[in-house]
Amino acid sequence: MRVRTRLEWRQQSRLQDQSDRLRRTLADLRAAATSRADYEPHDVTDDEAAVQADAIEDRLAAIGKALDRINTGGYGICLACRSPIADERLDAVPATAVCRD
Ligand SMILES: [Zn+2]
Repeated sequence: MRVRTRLEWRQQSRLQDQSDRLRRTLADLRAAATSRADYEPHDVTDDEAAVQADAIEDRLAAIGKALDRINTGGYGICLACRSPIADERLDAVPATAVCRD
């Protein structure tokens, strides 16, 4: 098992929190869509909810990959140019895989 840096520990718990929150939001969205579908015809709200759910799934995927990088190494290294990502950027967007450039 890799020894994690202090930054990685902190980011890991933040990513886990974000992931838990997003999963709850996603479950709520799906539950709301299902209950609407029981008594209403398809409406625009369903499309909005679907777009929102897709966006949440994308974020969850990004968070999952960031957690993988913390476990296997490479977290905080830009996937595009291989240089270290600034701590401020990781703090602002813990799941980011690329540097600002
Ligand atoms: Zn880069």
